[in-house]
Amino acid sequence: MRTQAQAVVIGGGVIGCSILYHLAKLGWTDVVLLERDELTSGSTWHAAANIHGLHDSTNISRLQHYTMNLYKELEAETGQSCGVFQPGSLYLAQTEAREHQLRLQEAKARRYGMNFHEVSRDEAERLHPLVNFDGIRCIMFEPDGGNVDPSGVTNAYAVGARQRGAEIHRFTPVTGTEAQPDGTWIVRTTKGDIRTPWVINAAGLWGREVAAMAGIELPLVPTEHQYFVTETIAEIAAMDRRLPSVADRDGEYYLRQEGKGLLVGAYERDMRFWAEDGTPQGFGHELFADDLERIEDNMMRAIERVPAVGEAGIKRVINGPMIWSPDSNVLFGPVPELTGYFCCNGIIPGFSQNGGMGKMAAEWMVEGEPSLDLFNWDMARYGHWAGKTFTKARVGDQYAHRFSIHFPNEERTAGRPVRTRPAYELQKSIGGQFGLNYGWEHPLWFAAPGEPDHETYGFDRQNWWEPVGREARMLRENAGIIDISNFAKYSVTGPGAESWLNALFANRMPKTVGRSCLTPLIGKRGGIAGDFTVTRLADEEFLIIGSGAAERFHQRFFRQIPLPEDTRFSSRTEAMCGFNVAGPKSRDLIQRLTNASLATEDFPFMRSKRITVGGIDCVALRVSFTGDLGWELHCEAGDQVALYQSLLRQAGDMGAGPVGSRALMALRIEKGYGSWSREYSPEWWPQESGLAGLIKMDKDFLNKDAYAALAGIAPREKLVVLEVDADTADASGGEPIFLPDGTPVGQVTSGAFGYGVGKSLALGYVRADVATGGQAVQVAVLGRPHTSRILTEPPFDPKGVKLRS
Ligand SMILES: Cc1cc2nc3c(=O)[nH]c(=O)nc-3n(C[C@H](O)[C@H](O)[C@H](O)COP(=O)(O)OP(=O)(O)OC[C@H]3O[C@@H](n4cnc5c(N)ncnc54)[C@H](O)[C@@H]3O)c2cc1C
Repeated sequence: MRTQAQAVVIGGGVIGCSILYHLAKLGWTDVVLLERDELTSGSTWHAAANIHGLHDSTNISRLQHYTMNLYKELEAETGQSCGVFQPGSLYLAQTEAREHQLRLQEAKARRYGMNFHEVSRDEAERLHPLVNFDGIRCIMFEPDGGNVDPSGVTNAYAVGARQRGAEIHRFTPVTGTEAQPDGTWIVRTTKGDIRTPWVINAAGLWGREVAAMAGIELPLVPTEHQYFVTETIAEIAAMDRRLPSVADRDGEYYLRQEGKGLLVGAYERDMRFWAEDGTPQGFGHELFADDLERIEDNMMRAIERVPAVGEAGIKRVINGPMIWSPDSNVLFGPVPELTGYFCCNGIIPGFSQNGGMGKMAAEWMVEGEPSLDLFNWDMARYGHWAGKTFTKARVGDQYAHRFSIHFPNEERTAGRPVRTRPAYELQKSIGGQFGLNYGWEHPLWFAAPGEPDHETYGFDRQNWWEPVGREARMLRENAGIIDISNFAKYSVTGPGAESWLNALFANRMPKTVGRSCLTPLIGKRGGIAGDFTVTRLADEEFLIIGSGAAERFHQRFFRQIPLPEDTRFSSRTEAMCGFNVAGPKSRDLIQRLTNASLATEDFPFMRSKRITVGGIDCVALRVSFTGDLGWELHCEAGDQVALYQSLLRQAGDMGAGPVGSRALMALRIEKGYGSWSREYSPEWWPQESGLAGLIKMDKDFLNKDAYAALAGIAPREKLVVLEVDADTADASGGEPIFLPDGTPVGQVTSGAFGYGVGKSLALGYVRADVATGGQAVQVAVLGRPHTSRILTEPPFDPKGVKLRS
């Protein structure tokens, strides 16, 4: 066994083997995989191993398609069968919402060249004569869908990796991982130690135990999961081809051919957790006792749809464990607080995602960053707040609703609240409807008396659409008070603060006390890793405001520049709260509560001051994400309620009041402002998103070389504002954009109704050669083409007159 390696993968399930293979493929051939038992000894061996391309996230869908297309290549390359059957998958829509979901997926497939299209009932009956299609309103077909052999795939990766020089050691449990002072790791095994710069935790069911060896706590918990296989079905035995699988997600089961029978699996409402306090070390190839009663409802729906299931006897039941994260997406990526420790844990559709996951993991380690925006997978989307109680509640909910549609603005309630601000109860008492943002409860909108006090969900306009409109118009006409406590806030103090920030961020830091600047943070590939507002509060004190959801994500970048001596960096997100008071009357509103002059000559745009508002010390910044005249007032968390009450009291007789973050999102779209993880992500280049003007090439900053290499290249796509002719639904993000002749040219990143301007709007990236004002396009809202046009300028205050007034 090697005593040194470029990377050590722990776990020989399908995921560990795929990562090993992809690392070797990208040129790291000096890599080792350690497996405590035989390969496939966790969830892998007993998986139903269905493969699908459908996912609500476009990038995840692209990676699933990569995976589906890889199997045949892998077989050809290694000579090892993956047991691939690709007779296709039929997706059934019983409801209008499901039809919208499938049509949207079909439109995305057209944009990315993925195989997914509608078929008629006649065609579907020909493809699968055993299905009763009554009551189905739309049928899609994915020709590459099907299933694989779990151990065949795992072994094919192993063969491919070994052929490139990787080592695999079975029956070699890892007993410890120890971080060394030089940034490398020692991986201890029963057969000796290996020193390595990269440890990869792909220990599946034992992901928590392996993580704990490095002091990491992962929000994961296993559940049981069952499927059964029928005896031979005569009609299938008589066929000379394989039947497509059936994705009847409204029926909440999956179904496919297995041998000459059918396999049916279900995510039942009455689910069961397993090994909550830790996966037993000795657990191996065991299964749990069958409990088909639990999935009876799902089975009955399957029988109704495919009567042959009920006519055949049951040959075999598999009830095995799988391990889940709170949102059922993988916990992926380098642990932000550590050097050289990569997690890939909590994968549910492992056979749809293993290839994409291996590829992205390898890119991240070998090249420094994945080529796609993976924030939906990034483990940094959870922080210390995602404890055991939260995780269990969310996993229970995820499991039970595995096949439910998750709508664009959906806010699941399980496990909440987990983090609240002092004003939470007050906000609740005035009708606050809350969403979850990096664990924080934050008000989305406020129900006025007589308005619904809960949200409905759907792809089209819902019951919150009017109340949110009322708030947005109130702000545009008078003023609104938006809780922005969930923004991330950092303080950097000390003699080296300015130089550290200059070394990190791409813009030049303000030289004068009281000035602010906007700045991008540049990623390893030259794209946008973040966007921040930096304010110089004193000679040696800066306040940085960024995306709250990306707080842990950004630690990876902040850690790359060593802090100079006597300089301190601290997160102030928990300690500080804030309100954005914006709208034409915002000045009058705040002025009633402070002696400081808010007149433009005393307090211009992009300036800051420490002022007292209603007797409370605040850092006031004259900026507003609404695009309107406005200030951000940041105070100590303990003062939040008093500040809020003072502001609300004054608002009362000015036609102003509380506004939630959903209206804020609509308002910033009217102004064409981008937002982190939507318009700004490492996938986009500054010259594409319009941020290049904020980059100062006459100084050094993080990843300057990568940006310099891109800076001379023409933009591939450009960020634009679109007006969409839509009257029952607005774009929400992810909708593809086509030219009128059907040529795909881009994708929506955010969408909303612009209540202040009376138009349905979207932001999105469009191929640079057609990204010009007036260009006619089609946006696939609800998956159907909607006539739209690219606007020459944002519809609200394009010259920034109100902002500076
Ligand atoms: C009943 C059932 C049906 C399923 N059906 C499907 C399906 O149809 N489609 C689909 O895509 N997915 C399906 N899955 C999910 C799929 O099985 C998983 O997503 C996938 O197997 C996860 O693989 P993994 O490599 O992450 O983990 P695992 O398979 O759990 O592998 C982890 C490996 O790490 C090893 N290990 C642990 N600790 C150590 C240590 N200390 N040292 C060395 N090695 C260690 C283990 O022995 C194990 O081999 C199903 C799962 C179940 C339970």
